[in-house]
Amino acid sequence: MQHHPAMRVALISDIHANRPALEAVLDDIAAAGADEIWCLGDVVGYGAEPDACVELTREHAAICLAGNHDLAVTGDLPLDEFSRGAGIAARWTQETMDPENVAWLATLCPLDEDRSIGLYHASPRDPIWEYVLSALLAELCLDAQEHRVCAVGHSHVALSFVRREGELATGEPRRADDALDLSSGEWLVNPGSVGQPRDGDPRAAWLLLDLDARTAVWRRVDYDIGRAQAAIRAARLPDSLADRLSYGQ
Ligand code: ZN
Repeated sequence: MQHHPAMRVALISDIHANRPALEAVLDDIAAAGADEIWCLGDVVGYGAEPDACVELTREHAAICLAGNHDLAVTGDLPLDEFSRGAGIAARWTQETMDPENVAWLATLCPLDEDRSIGLYHASPRDPIWEYVLSALLAELCLDAQEHRVCAVGHSHVALSFVRREGELATGEPRRADDALDLSSGEWLVNPGSVGQPRDGDPRAAWLLLDLDARTAVWRRVDYDIGRAQAAIRAARLPDSLADRLSYGQ
């Protein structure tokens, strides 16, 4: 049987164990009718429902990368490289998760260069740690990347950088329903975060990519933030991890 590559791909990233946000995004993706879901990593960490998020991601995503928080939980990254809140949450996640789900996280890789676009958790230069938030850094990433279009997560900010022939890279944050034509130029796109947005919009973020038409549409979805916060407080994770979800920071 011939394999037809997916044309309409829903890109998700940085779920961070936020089950209500992930469920709302999966519903919105189903309504939009994507062929496949690709996840750029950080399924767990910060939030209180890591097992549910791993199980939903395993069920629905055709591709899933490993993020730095996933690699902390599997023991591949030392916890002392994390901020205090992130380290506490990673240790709690290790102690809480079903070992079978941790074993699945351990099979994931922070990059996938075998698709028509490059996929990295953080950046083409450093797939695990680099935050691509400036045009200067984007320039270095665009120099390093093999694909004309790459997708990254990690910063939790929905954005795009483009470099047109003979010009320097420029970047912009992306708001709900922003639509772009990716058919020329070199691109780095970030869908934003499902479970812990940091761009001032508390709604869950995802990105619909049409690989055939070469278009991108950024999406935001309301979800039950109070339910995610209650789960974080019930787990006795740091309050700040619950509070920040209200502000999208
Ligand atoms: Zn993250």
